[in-house]
Amino acid sequence: MKAELIQQLRRVAGNEAVLASPEDLVCYGYDSSWLSGKAGVVVLPTSVEQVSAVLQLANQQKVPVVTRGAGTGMSGGSIPNEGSIVLGLSRMNRIKEIDRVNLVAVVEPGVVTAELQAEVESLNLFYPPDPASLKQSSLGGNVAEGAGGPRCLKYGTTKDYVLGLEVVLPNGEIIRSGGKLMKDVTGYNLNQLFVGSEGTLGVITEIILRLIPKPEARLTAMAIFPTLEEATKTVANLLGSGILPSTIEIMDNTTIRVVEEYLQMGLPVEAGAILIIEVDGKPEAIRPEIEQVGQVCERSGASEVQVATTEEGSEALWKARRAVSAALGRLAPTKQGEDICIPRSAIPEFVRRVGEISKKFDLVIPVFGHAGDGNLHPNLLFDQRDPEMMERVHHAAAELFDAAIDLGGTLSGEHGIGLVKQPFIARRLTPQALSLMHSIKAAIDPNNILNPGKMMYPDQC
Ligand SMILES: Cc1cc2nc3c(=O)[nH]c(=O)nc-3n(C[C@H](O)[C@H](O)[C@H](O)COP(=O)(O)OP(=O)(O)OC[C@H]3O[C@@H](n4cnc5c(N)ncnc54)[C@H](O)[C@@H]3O)c2cc1C
Repeated sequence: MKAELIQQLRRVAGNEAVLASPEDLVCYGYDSSWLSGKAGVVVLPTSVEQVSAVLQLANQQKVPVVTRGAGTGMSGGSIPNEGSIVLGLSRMNRIKEIDRVNLVAVVEPGVVTAELQAEVESLNLFYPPDPASLKQSSLGGNVAEGAGGPRCLKYGTTKDYVLGLEVVLPNGEIIRSGGKLMKDVTGYNLNQLFVGSEGTLGVITEIILRLIPKPEARLTAMAIFPTLEEATKTVANLLGSGILPSTIEIMDNTTIRVVEEYLQMGLPVEAGAILIIEVDGKPEAIRPEIEQVGQVCERSGASEVQVATTEEGSEALWKARRAVSAALGRLAPTKQGEDICIPRSAIPEFVRRVGEISKKFDLVIPVFGHAGDGNLHPNLLFDQRDPEMMERVHHAAAELFDAAIDLGGTLSGEHGIGLVKQPFIARRLTPQALSLMHSIKAAIDPNNILNPGKMMYPDQC
């Protein structure tokens, strides 16, 4: 990184906002994928004007910029390109307004997801999108990835809550889209162009999010199944029963065992799989619903259904579910958490094929995730230092994606493409669709400075 550019960055963002020591650059070289990179410099702006000034400099000098929220992304989207400017938004972390009349929150991108949720819940309001990383992830990162989570079965994903955005374009121009509006069809839907754009089109500096009334109560059940197959078949039975649970999460036997080793909370380690099912709403409405959920599970093969009777009991089940990613770290030095999404009717067949792929490539591939959405996380566990194993991992990942696509599914339901799934994107999109995406990127970012090479290779288009 040229010393002159570092000086210019210090002038526009302030001395304390610019980090260039080797130690700092190492810290910003990772996200939650297994990849790493080396930034040229890190800038931590505190205002939209500073973001704009940084982008103007980068665009003039054609230096890549990698926007970073909390670095919990699992697809490598915030891994720095060699010599890039990492634009970390953690200091733009103000909840600017909670508007109780219009039912919206106006936030800066660095606000941590759980902090907004706690704030609005104290006012009896609700912001449903709940990635398992919610205590760390930023709302800007959630928008840029189109994040989901367990509750998205009933409430939808981040995209369904974005009403307005302020975005800085690669040339430093600041644009606004949408507003505190429940309806707005004036022109193209720019909000949704930036949702899921993975830092490749603009830097999101303000977000207007829709809020809803907080459900009065919730009840959480754990249904225990002798086999994974019975659990997967139950998902369709639950969805066809006339109830819309807020979550249907699945954990297979490997996942249950590793979480139990990690948390020691009495999970059923002999089970083939468990489903964690939650209903929410009025207390008098959800009690018969959870009873019906239990009956459907038992008719579908559950050996036992336990309903948490207290808020602490519910939270303990969610603690177990949210601990899965961390706990899997006990089984292998590295993991690649896949994120395929398939029609829900295809879940039993997809899980069967995962078993075949696991045997074929001699890899442990636990399965867990948002079964109610058809969004499963088969995790490839491996040792990155073993080249022969890495070869098997690559082929196994390709076969997982092919299986998902063959069953009418897609590569990613919520983690994005980034670097990790980039080699496979052409399997899912037609050449025409890829070419259109490339044209959009080229129109907005002609110098290709924003997250270059992420999501799609230019030569694929
Ligand atoms: C344990 C664990 C569990 C997880 N569970 C879930 C889950 O249930 N559901 C789910 O959806 N995800 C999950 N994730 C993935 C991850 O938390 C989400 O993708 C999250 O949205 C990333 O937010 P972040 O702030 O960490 O973004 P980062 O990782 O910092 O960045 C992610 C991408 O967004 C871009 N970006 C970040 N901020 C901005 C901005 N302001 N403007 C433009 N681009 C930006 C970056 O360039 C990058 O491409 C999980 C991750 C972990 C580690």
